[in-house]
Amino acid sequence: MGIYSNSKLSTFDQCKYKFRLQYIERIRTDIQCIEAFMGSLVHDALEKLYKDLQSGKLNSKDELLEYYLRRWKEDWNDNILVVKEYANPEMYQNIGVESLLNYYDKYHPFDQLKIIGVETNEKLDLSNGDKYYVKIDRLAADDLGNYYVIDYKTNSSLKRQEELDRDRQLAMYSIWVRENYPEAKDVKLVWNFLAFNEEFSSSRTADDLVRLKLEVEDKIKEIESCNEFPTNKSKLCDYCGYKSMCHEWVGKKKIVGKGVKKQTILGDFSS
Ligand code: SF4
Repeated sequence: MGIYSNSKLSTFDQCKYKFRLQYIERIRTDIQCIEAFMGSLVHDALEKLYKDLQSGKLNSKDELLEYYLRRWKEDWNDNILVVKEYANPEMYQNIGVESLLNYYDKYHPFDQLKIIGVETNEKLDLSNGDKYYVKIDRLAADDLGNYYVIDYKTNSSLKRQEELDRDRQLAMYSIWVRENYPEAKDVKLVWNFLAFNEEFSSSRTADDLVRLKLEVEDKIKEIESCNEFPTNKSKLCDYCGYKSMCHEWVGKKKIVGKGVKKQTILGDFSS
C-alpha cells in the first residue's frame, strides 16, 4: 500500500529524476525557494487565525502580523533561495504582509462560513488499496448545507478559470469530503489568490469525480511500473532543491551539496 499526494504526482510529471531522489531514495533537502517559504508562513498564519477562532479567539490584525513576522525571523535560514534576480527577501516578506492584511480586511470577522476543519490530515482510500493524502487548508460549510474546500495561493500569477476547472488537487479532496459528509448538498472548490485579493471557485459533477479518481489510479499504476527516471531540465530547475546534486547541472558525478542530507522520515507529502 502506498500513500500518494498531489505534490507526489505533480513531481513525477515535472521531473522523474527529482521524483526518484525525493520519494524513492528519500533524500532530504533543506533547500527551499523563498516563494515556498513565504507561502508556508502565510498558510501558518491563516491556520492560526482559524484554529484560534475554533477555540473562540479572534486574532487582531496586529496579532496576526506579529505572528507572521516573528515566524519569518525565527525560521529564516541560509538554505532559502531567492531565484529571481530583481527580487530580495524583503519584497517577499511584504507580499506576505499585504496578502494577510488584504485577506483580513476582506473577510473579517471570518463568520461567513462555519469552520469544519483546518489543515486536515486525512487519507482517501483508492480502489487499488493505495491512499491519497487529503490536506485541505480550510473546510467550511454554509447554512444551506453546501461545503467548501478552500485553498490559499500565494502565487505571483492568477490561474485561468479553465485551469481551475481541471484542477486535480481540490477535486480529489472533494471526493473525501463527499464520502465523509454525505449530508453535503454540494461541495464547492475555492481558491483564494491572496496576492491579488481574489477568490475563484469551481465545482465537479459526480461523473467528473469518478473519472478523476480513475485517472489518478492510472497515474499511480504508471508510477509503480516506472523503471526509468530521466531528468527533465527546465526553468523549474532553478526552484528545485536537488539542483546542487543533479547531474544535469553539476556533471555526471552526483554530489551531496549544502543543505542536502539523507532523509530520516518517511516521504514528504506537503502539498
Ligand atoms: S534540477 Fe531539474 S532536472 Fe535536476 S532533478 Fe531538479 S527538476 Fe529535475
